[in-house]
Amino acid sequence: MQGVTHPVIKDVVLIGAGHAHVAVLRMFGMRPVAGVRFTLISREVHSPYSGMLPGLIAGHYGFDDAHIDTGPLTQFAGARLYQDEAVGLDLAERRVICRDRPPVPYDLVSLDIGSTPNTAGVPGASQHAIPVKPIDGFLSRFEALLARVLARKGHARLALVGAGAGGVELLLSVEHRLRREVAQAGFDAGVLSFVLVSEVADILPSFPAAFRARFRAILAERGIDTVLGAPVTRVEAGRLIVDGHAPVEADEILWTTQAAPAAWFAQAGLPLDRDGFLKVDEMLRVGGRDDIFAAGDTIAFGPRALPKSGVYAVRAGPVLADNIRRAVTGRPLRPFRPQRDTLALVSTGERHALGSRNGVVVEGAWVWRWKDWIDRRFMRKFNEPPEMAAAPPAPSSPVADRAALADISAIAMRCGGCGAKVGATVLSRALGGIEPVRRPEVLLGLDAPDDAALVDVGGGKLALQTVDYFRAIVDDPYALGRIAATHALGDVYAMGGEPQTALAIATVPYGLEAKVEADLAAMMAGANEALRAAGCALVGGHTSEGAELALGFAVNGLVAPAAALRKGGLAPGDALVLTKPIGTGTLLAAHMRRKAKARWVMAAIAHMVQSNRRAAEVLARHGVHAATDVTGFGLIGHLIEMVRASDVDVTLAPDRVPLLAGARETVALGIFSSLQPQNVRLRRAVRDLEAAAAHPLYPLLFDPQTSGGLIASLPLAAAARCVADLRAAGYAEAAVIGLVTARSGALEPITLDPSGERVAAALEEARREAARPPQPAFAP
Ligand SMILES: Cc1cc2nc3c(=O)[nH]c(=O)nc-3n(C[C@H](O)[C@H](O)[C@H](O)COP(=O)(O)OP(=O)(O)OC[C@H]3O[C@@H](n4cnc5c(N)ncnc54)[C@H](O)[C@@H]3O)c2cc1C
Repeated sequence: MQGVTHPVIKDVVLIGAGHAHVAVLRMFGMRPVAGVRFTLISREVHSPYSGMLPGLIAGHYGFDDAHIDTGPLTQFAGARLYQDEAVGLDLAERRVICRDRPPVPYDLVSLDIGSTPNTAGVPGASQHAIPVKPIDGFLSRFEALLARVLARKGHARLALVGAGAGGVELLLSVEHRLRREVAQAGFDAGVLSFVLVSEVADILPSFPAAFRARFRAILAERGIDTVLGAPVTRVEAGRLIVDGHAPVEADEILWTTQAAPAAWFAQAGLPLDRDGFLKVDEMLRVGGRDDIFAAGDTIAFGPRALPKSGVYAVRAGPVLADNIRRAVTGRPLRPFRPQRDTLALVSTGERHALGSRNGVVVEGAWVWRWKDWIDRRFMRKFNEPPEMAAAPPAPSSPVADRAALADISAIAMRCGGCGAKVGATVLSRALGGIEPVRRPEVLLGLDAPDDAALVDVGGGKLALQTVDYFRAIVDDPYALGRIAATHALGDVYAMGGEPQTALAIATVPYGLEAKVEADLAAMMAGANEALRAAGCALVGGHTSEGAELALGFAVNGLVAPAAALRKGGLAPGDALVLTKPIGTGTLLAAHMRRKAKARWVMAAIAHMVQSNRRAAEVLARHGVHAATDVTGFGLIGHLIEMVRASDVDVTLAPDRVPLLAGARETVALGIFSSLQPQNVRLRRAVRDLEAAAAHPLYPLLFDPQTSGGLIASLPLAAAARCVADLRAAGYAEAAVIGLVTARSGALEPITLDPSGERVAAALEEARREAARPPQPAFAP
């Protein structure tokens, strides 16, 4: 999918999207090394930037301001993005053990996974305190805290344990935000109270005296109590037990004390300091090995102890990138020489900050604006990486040739997945002259194409046969395997059948045997997972080497003759139900252009790997008349097939069509799948085209779907209940999107109901009808 120009020789796996690794990705994006492939494994695909976290909590920034989007960044770097959590390292086999996927092989691995607050030494802390780290989980924990405080109408006392820069800045931000939210909700913000608790004798111990004094004064001005020089020995529900001090009562407790490393390092046999952090030398190598590097909070830096501060992770980034480059090209490494004194800018909750460097302390709104400028500039480097063509290749390194890359990218911009399908019109023209042999067993074949061919092979059930094959839509072979198998099985479910066997056809890029094997293994592991869940046996297949990853399946299924669903069968008075949201075509096209947010792409993948099996079962229970799966020809294209086969008209309400997150935005940017123009030719089936085309969601009706949901028709009276059951079965966005009406004789069978009023009215009428008490039987 990345348009790889060179066979992969070395795999560099980055674990964690910490501050150093984002720099590594950017630098390799600017200056790639031919044959070196990067894979980022990160628990979160939007990595929080610690410098802006207090501002985010205080309400000065939105989520995207304060998070690095690893989607466009990994695309820029030509890297694969796996959203997962590393839970171990197999040093002997050189594999990263992940929570939710098969092990990921590496030639070189680097760890930048941050730290967590150390609650282990204090009984009760892990049960009753809210850890600030990992930061990626803190935001939801904070939102829950806010909701509780509002539920108590502001009558809450909040304690924060830890008086380092992170703790003090966070407490001031929390105080600012909570008071504002409580006041905005119409309650008295004065009833809120705050206390800072720490074992250290003074706040901000590593800062100059003037800086500390100023922050002490700010805390006092804001009415924030302090309990200092008093270690917390136990945490109980609603209070802190503190050595040498009366218990500190608190409804909410935030915990920011010393950092703790990942627990799995020890089991992996990695060299650790006595606190469990990874021992690295001055080259950032773990245990002196040239194949394991680390940076950020997670390291114990050999030459000298470094504070657990984002500044050092950021500073390590360029050296880490350079040393990875040197290691994979066999050149000597260079040392990391972190500065001893760094500029510290700490905000006070409002748009106000203090700065300190070399003992000089400055303060004011202008310091906040300065910090804001520095932080935003930092974020732009990662969230808006330069255009590939604009980046000059470095003359001295074996860099991929840019002109070749530009040519290849023009071809690579052709979409994969179902966006790579041949258009419906081209297909019917091409097949028009073909006359297959007629056999009596073939009940449904090319003459009446449906989701699958239906063949009578004797016995009580009919055989279903279908095949799908497409180029990679994601760079992750495991995800591709799951998507491709789920997609292929969809045809069998759309026909009301049960999958029985599958044959795979796989194309894997040329490369070293070990790389080909690893990609194939990951892809087939993903596919088999989906097939196993469907009870479908993988019985064989065929593989070949090719320019890019591709995968398909021929699936056989069984269906009882009476249960076989067809595209034809829509009946006037039916409701049209769609089980999954649409938008994969535009989102994946935007992903290729680095215009899609990683969370949109991950959510689209989550929908693509969701099987249609349970949806088909629910629809069957509610008396489904006809169904098809929405794939390459888009919603309108597949609906037209149903309408034509059923000789009816339909009314479609675009506003009721569920959309994948981000699809609205990428369509607004004018980004479409390469198949979209062919699908749009089908617009002639839409009545009042000019008015219809003015609807902002109109283009999405032609968006080709990969592993889309089912569109089904069923009696209007059953529709609401059916949608409720679909949602309960995990199809959270299932919706009634239209109505089937009698054939009007007009040339265009599809009418849009832009406001959705007609569909809503019909559903309301059906609801009233169902609620009406049964009429008493006539008694003479
Ligand atoms: C409230 C607060 C404010 C702070 N403010 C500042 C500040 O202004 N300036 C400053 O310099 N420092 C600040 N810090 C400290 C700073 O947050 C850390 O030092 C910094 O984030 C460390 O960066 P890192 O690269 O080591 O890891 P992180 O930034 O923590 O990133 C780790 C990444 O790895 C991922 N990850 C974690 N575990 C795994 C796993 N097992 N597998 C895969 N992925 C994983 C996470 O999802 C995350 O993306 C603050 C800390 C706090 C709590």
